[in-house]
Amino acid sequence: MNFEVRAVPKPKHKRFKKTAKERGRITSEVYEEALERSGGRCERCGKYEYLQCAHLIRRWKVEIETTVNDVAMLCGPSVNTGTCHNIIDFTRVGKEWAEEYRQKLYKRH
Ligand SMILES: [Zn+2]
Repeated sequence: MNFEVRAVPKPKHKRFKKTAKERGRITSEVYEEALERSGGRCERCGKYEYLQCAHLIRRWKVEIETTVNDVAMLCGPSVNTGTCHNIIDFTRVGKEWAEEYRQKLYKRH
């Protein structure tokens, strides 16, 4: 039996699956909603500090897109040791907190 070998043209349509970077993007709507929820305070320690919208889940783990339940307003900046954003990004305790907090957020609805 002969199989005809044909060059398959590249699909012209846009990729259906978004890249991890796209899925991890925090839209302004998500940001505003998170900020409103936080009341301007860090959602972990409650301080009125410089806040950053932090991912509660690794970006590549986001399946479709980042929702308000996947983020939290946390004191930052993430590069400073001791801030909540730093803690959830770089410590185990923080990661556990983030995972639990995310579950809590999803249960609210
Ligand atoms: Zn904090």
